[in-house]
Amino acid sequence: MAKSPKETLDDFARAKLDALEAQALRRRLIETDRREGAIAFRDGRRLVSFCCNDYLNLSQNETVKRAAIEATEKYGVGSGASRLVSGNHPLFRELETRLAEWKQAEDCVVFGSGYMANMGIIPTLMRKGDLIVADELAHACLLSGSKLSGARVEIFRHNDMGHLEELLAAHRNAAQHCLILTDGIFSMDGDAAPVEAMAEIAKRHDAWLMTDDAHGIGVVGHEGRGSSFMGTAKADVPLQMGTLSKAVGAYGGYLCASRAVCDLIRTRARTLIYSTGLPPATAAAAIAALEFMRANPDYCKRPVAKARAFTRALGLPDPESPIVPLILGDAELTLAASALLEAEGYLVTGIRPPTVPAGTARLRFTFTAEHDDADIARLAALVRERILPRRAAE
Ligand SMILES: *Cc1c(COP(=O)(O)O)cnc(C)c1O
Repeated sequence: MAKSPKETLDDFARAKLDALEAQALRRRLIETDRREGAIAFRDGRRLVSFCCNDYLNLSQNETVKRAAIEATEKYGVGSGASRLVSGNHPLFRELETRLAEWKQAEDCVVFGSGYMANMGIIPTLMRKGDLIVADELAHACLLSGSKLSGARVEIFRHNDMGHLEELLAAHRNAAQHCLILTDGIFSMDGDAAPVEAMAEIAKRHDAWLMTDDAHGIGVVGHEGRGSSFMGTAKADVPLQMGTLSKAVGAYGGYLCASRAVCDLIRTRARTLIYSTGLPPATAAAAIAALEFMRANPDYCKRPVAKARAFTRALGLPDPESPIVPLILGDAELTLAASALLEAEGYLVTGIRPPTVPAGTARLRFTFTAEHDDADIARLAALVRERILPRRAAE
């Protein structure tokens, strides 16, 4: 008898999983209970996490937590509807005003997440007949949003301004509008985009520049304001996008831009219009976190300083962000290195394709303000003595 659709569906899923398993590319969710000071519990074991994006440890900050608890008690848990219906809590306005001011933009729109922000912003601005030029290492959601827009998408080699100019010279004239996309700080490599140079190129080619500062806000640039603020003056970036889910310690995405652009996004971005607003507690937490960042600019420098202590202990180049990749190449070797560190009490998840390009599987170390210097030194020693020799042997 022919198989039922339920059977063929399960066969399909199993065959895909088996193929991924064979390449060491199957992924599993592992229960992890995060606590203060970058501590995580897995299977009852206490680990120090070096793979979390909570760079300022604000998800565990007492003031931030209290803001979320008070907002929940006062306003309830969910926001009940899309922001355009009845889910636009007054806290959103306050959050957007603060973000706009922090980023020196006219206005700001907050989304349900960073991923949703990019899936909403890009198709609102771009369509068929337009040109998007993106860095090859730009985050997955920038590329998803680009595909969804229907615009022509060209990819330039990572941080290669010559290649960016070449693509603009070849394709800009045939397109109506042009959008240049990059991460401000690259999520898996930790390096910075040359944002000032890109702003200059964008101007020359009549293109709009959008930076995704998910890993920049709170930890790089003047007072932790992000990648537009790494030079002497603010770089001219008309579309500053980012997330509230990393250094800000809460959840949600944002776009800081002109009033006209933000008004258009509020009117047209589908992921804003057709999705429920963030819980009030999340907005309250983000407001408290931004307040903390503004009051503690020196604290915002700590994650990069901690990362620097690690790279110096290993003789690696100084980092530009709290993210330090150690490329091992092979996915199995990466999983083994991660397991070795976990056995020693350190949580460092291996990153494999397709999150990173094939052949560049890696350990991705992230550093937070509250990491203990002794742990960083011990972690560096483990890497030097037990992981680097294995890489060399491959
Ligand atoms: C994490 C991340 C996002 C997605 O943000 P979420 O708020 O987690 O959805 C977008 N862009 C980059 C570069 C990221 O690292």
